[in-house]
Amino acid sequence: MSGPCGRAEADRALEKSLVEATSRARVERGVPMSRHTSFKIGGPADFLVTVESAGELLRVLGECRGRRVPFLVLGRGTNLLVRDGGIRGVVVRPAGDLAATTFDGERVRAGAAAGLADLARECGRRGLSGMEFAVGIPGSVGGAVIMNAGAYDSEMAKVVESADFITSRDLIESVPAGLLEFGYRTSRPQREGWVVVSATLRLACGDLAAIRRREEENTAKREARQPIDLPSAGSVFKRPPGRYAGTLIQEAGCQGLRVGDAQVSERHAGFIVNLGSATARDVLELIERVRQAVQAHAGVWLEPELRIVGED
Ligand SMILES: Cc1cc2nc3c(=O)[nH]c(=O)nc-3n(C[C@H](O)[C@H](O)[C@H](O)COP(=O)(O)OP(=O)(O)OC[C@H]3O[C@@H](n4cnc5c(N)ncnc54)[C@H](O)[C@@H]3O)c2cc1C
Repeated sequence: MSGPCGRAEADRALEKSLVEATSRARVERGVPMSRHTSFKIGGPADFLVTVESAGELLRVLGECRGRRVPFLVLGRGTNLLVRDGGIRGVVVRPAGDLAATTFDGERVRAGAAAGLADLARECGRRGLSGMEFAVGIPGSVGGAVIMNAGAYDSEMAKVVESADFITSRDLIESVPAGLLEFGYRTSRPQREGWVVVSATLRLACGDLAAIRRREEENTAKREARQPIDLPSAGSVFKRPPGRYAGTLIQEAGCQGLRVGDAQVSERHAGFIVNLGSATARDVLELIERVRQAVQAHAGVWLEPELRIVGED
């Protein structure tokens, strides 16, 4: 199908099938992604579809695949830089039943849309140890599995026992942790584009006071070191082997460096913050300047940790 009329017709047909797969209220057009990212940056998604159950998720992805329409599954948008031109195709946002959690002894099953930090705190309240590292990570369980989110010497890889995914075969498959190939901020599902439906975590019974103390220590470290009062997407760069990206950036003289309203955080040089009206273009230019400076100063080429998606 070609030309603007053909495109409009294809979009109407796609919208109709998405509505049938969910319900009208949950299919929105042209939604600015700046509303759905912690950076508060990002152009419009052609379609934003909120799905409330595994069945709806399966049907929507099936429609996209069947029509060869690209899709992106959104968690809480806390590790995303969406370019200013927005996202062509469908952004799928799990919610509703997909945020459910169930506790069974030392096992916790959490839907992809469950908030990671809330889940971590609930585990702590129940005397389950293992999730203290996650109390300040603002993402969803789905995003955390994909990114192998971690902090303070722990990470999802240490607690995930198995997870349910929609793979390219359009069915829900349970995959044990041993096959998930977790690495530093990577995973097999990330590489293969699998969609997380839920994850089962295996924790350990622990001492309530000790768990609470570790949670408070981790929260205090974050509050002291991270610019949590300003929009950001967390650490911009991966930690190079044996080094800290923030220290390298500081040593290269980039702390406080600014392009438009995007700034290398004065509090933590590993973060870029949005001072108000930063665009993705500003952030991308700042990222390049920082990379060049660190390369020139320390001979290290920094790799982005945040996911950069969408069109210019
Ligand atoms: C202030 C701040 C502090 C942070 N601190 C940390 C930290 O200490 N450690 C850390 O690791 N991260 C940290 N982050 C980054 C971020 O919170 C994590 O990477 C988190 O796991 C991302 O989850 P999300 O739901 O926001 O994912 P999103 O940002 O929405 O998405 C990230 C990627 O996962 C994919 N995705 C999301 N959900 C699914 C799903 N259900 N199925 C398939 N793919 C999916 C997206 O398509 C995208 O590619 C921080 C971010 C902020 C803003």
